[in-house]
Amino acid sequence: MEPNCIFCKIIEKQIPAEIIFENASVLGFKDISPKAPIHYLFIPKKHLASLAETPKEDLSVLCDIYSAIQEVTKKEGVDKSGYKTTIHTGKGGGQIVFHLHVHLLAQK
Ligand code: AMP
Ligand code: ZN
Repeated sequence: MEPNCIFCKIIEKQIPAEIIFENASVLGFKDISPKAPIHYLFIPKKHLASLAETPKEDLSVLCDIYSAIQEVTKKEGVDKSGYKTTIHTGKGGGQIVFHLHVHLLAQK
């Protein structure tokens, strides 16, 4: 938990979000400013600032995140039609919120 991190505050339920997935290591919620009919964010519950700053031993959380994405996209019925996943890394990569997250975008 990083006290100044907005996504840590969502994990701690200190600020609201539309949560669509939760397990021991991952939280999934709707992006507040959706760029597609389905636009969800998946984050590790452990604060990791960015992909570049994630130590090798914590990279397994990306496996948990992509597993969550497989589950959610199946539930939403877009696993066959297709979807896009994106990670913005660092300022030059367009990252605004410095808590590692994977964007999921799909048409409904
Ligand atoms: P980026 O760091 O470029 O991957 O972008 C951060 C994303 O987080 C943007 O798509 C924002 O719309 C989204 N976002 C920022 N604050 C919130 C929030 N409180 N709840 C949900 N999504 C958010
Ligand atoms: Zn955080």
